[in-house]
Amino acid sequence: MVNEAFDTNWVAPVGPHITAFEQEVADYIDVKGAVALSSGTAAIHLALLLLNVGREDRVFCSTFTFVASANPIMYQGAEPVFIDSEPESWNMSPQALERALKEAAAENKLPKAVIVVHLYGQVAKMQEILRICKLYDVPVVEDAAESLGATYFGIHSGSMGDFGIFSFNGNKIITTSGGGMLVSNSEKLLERARFLATQAKDPALHYQHSVMGFNYRMSNISAGIGRAQLKSLNGKVDARRSVYKNYVDDLTSIEGISFMPEYHGSFSSRWLTVMLLDQTKLNVTPEQLVTYLNDQMIEARVVWKPLHLQPLFKGTGYYSHSNDNHVAEKLYENGVCLPSGSNLSPKDQQRVIKHIKECLKHSIGREAVI
Ligand SMILES: *Cc1c(COP(=O)(O)O)cnc(C)c1O
Repeated sequence: MVNEAFDTNWVAPVGPHITAFEQEVADYIDVKGAVALSSGTAAIHLALLLLNVGREDRVFCSTFTFVASANPIMYQGAEPVFIDSEPESWNMSPQALERALKEAAAENKLPKAVIVVHLYGQVAKMQEILRICKLYDVPVVEDAAESLGATYFGIHSGSMGDFGIFSFNGNKIITTSGGGMLVSNSEKLLERARFLATQAKDPALHYQHSVMGFNYRMSNISAGIGRAQLKSLNGKVDARRSVYKNYVDDLTSIEGISFMPEYHGSFSSRWLTVMLLDQTKLNVTPEQLVTYLNDQMIEARVVWKPLHLQPLFKGTGYYSHSNDNHVAEKLYENGVCLPSGSNLSPKDQQRVIKHIKECLKHSIGREAVI
């Protein structure tokens, strides 16, 4: 399809692949429509614009996520308030959200939107979250950048809120090398998103502009790549799930090691396999393990540092899961993202597992529990 884009000389910023890619993603997740954009971050930004988020407004956002989830709140001059995770999904805690909304309602300062992130390929507890947001009449934006292909009681991630966003950045489950998508069941709002994403040109021949726009559209070439990638999505989800299963089968017998759970109703794409090292049982920190693996030319990472701990967001509001349970902070202290690519061969994965075992053995020394 990329060749076709070149063959037909359609390397211009508009073209047939864009419309087709939008339709195919919308059909795949079962929503009315989609707008292909230059990045997932741009998609979040447009969602907030369409929800009229502006100066002095508040937006609630999951704390356990990549910074791109929250930056668009700042682009709009609004104030983020971060919501902790809960232990089963590792995503937004409905009980923390409920407390935060109750307090905000009492102050007459309800947020203009709630950004719920579906991290590492798993959908948040949307039934509870949607119920609570509906109660307070607050719109929901699903940051599904990491969870294309995941479902929740059979419903696709990104299709349940007022808006959903996906990313096709190089590290995501399918990629256009760089790109994103805004999805919704409101064709009217999506039409507005298309307008804003293409410099907000008024329908006139003389380049007239009445509102400020952006250069946020995806190119036809990228959309051609995206269409080819989308065809292999289900296979990629299967591959990532079996990578996860191999790690679990080989490593859970080690005391102190556990993995990101998959809770009732959730079908995770297992975008990344995340392992926890119980610091009370193991004598090795996530940073030590990541460094050890990196020295073996194995790419591993620590998990996202919660946004309420970031210097950038110093002093912003934050609601923990419960008074004495800060779930995201605990995950951050113990979590490691393992190599999880859909093209990871069994042989390479065995090498990763071998080195994880060796690292734990060395660090534990005489008290080895392996
Ligand atoms: C990757 C990512 C984004 C941003 O997507 P880009 O396409 O890189 O702008 C947003 N949120 C999360 C959770 C992500 O992982």
